[in-house]
Amino acid sequence: MSIAENIARVRANMAEAARESGRNPDDILLVGASKMNDTAACREAVAAGIDALGENRVQEMVQKLAENAYEGAPLHFIGHLQRNKVKQVVGRVALIQSVGSLELLEEIEKVAAARELTQDILLEVNIGREEAKSGFFSENLTAAAEAALAKSHIGVRGIMTIPPADADREENMRYFQEVQALYVDINTKLFHNKLEYLSMGMSGDYADAIRCGATMVRVGSAIFGARHYHE
Ligand SMILES: *Cc1c(COP(=O)(O)O)cnc(C)c1O
Repeated sequence: MSIAENIARVRANMAEAARESGRNPDDILLVGASKMNDTAACREAVAAGIDALGENRVQEMVQKLAENAYEGAPLHFIGHLQRNKVKQVVGRVALIQSVGSLELLEEIEKVAAARELTQDILLEVNIGREEAKSGFFSENLTAAAEAALAKSHIGVRGIMTIPPADADREENMRYFQEVQALYVDINTKLFHNKLEYLSMGMSGDYADAIRCGATMVRVGSAIFGARHYHE
C-alpha cells in the first residue's frame, strides 16, 4: 500500500467514525506522525493531502526542515520537548502539541517574545498519571491554562493527550472521555469556546478517539508503515 492509499483508508475510517457520532468529517484534522520517515515520505503525504505533519524529535525535524520535507503542509511538534531545545522549535512550527509543564510554557514565552511572535500550542494532559510521561495532571490543567493565557506570546489552541499504552479498549475510551470532558470544561470556563483542537488518537485508536470527540488525530504507522527502530 502506498502512503496515498493509506491516507485514503484512514480518512475513510475517520469519516465513518465521525458520521457514527453525528459529526462532520471535515471538522477532524489528520496529522501524519512522520518520525523516522524520510523527506520523500513526508512529501508523499503532503501531496496526498495530509492536513499537517508532526515530528517528535527536534534534531530529525531540523534536518528534514533543511530538506524542505514539509513544504505545503503545516508542521507540528508532537514529542517530548526539552527546555534547551525550545529555541530550535519556536517559530518554526505551526503548533507545539506537547506542552506539559509550567517550565516549558515559560521557556516558550521567553523565546517567542524575543522573536516577537506568537507560538500556538496545545496543553498536554497526562491522563493516566504516568510517571514516565510529561503532561499536566487533570487537576492542574485549569491553572496551567490560566498561566498560558497570561502569556502574551503564547496562543492556546486546545489540549492533547496520549493514554497509557497498556490500557485495554474500554479503559482507553474512558481516558478519551475524561480528556474530552476536561476540554469542554476549560473551553467553556476560560476560552469562550474558542478552542478548536482536541488532539487524541493514534494508529490503533483514532476511530475511538473521534467517537469520543477528538478534532485532531495523530497517525503514524497506519500511514507510513511500521517503524524499524533498529535499522
Ligand atoms: C509516533 C506518535 C504518534 C503516532 O503513533 P502511531 O501509533 O504510529 O500512529 C502519535 N502521537 C505521538 C506523540 C507520537 O510520537
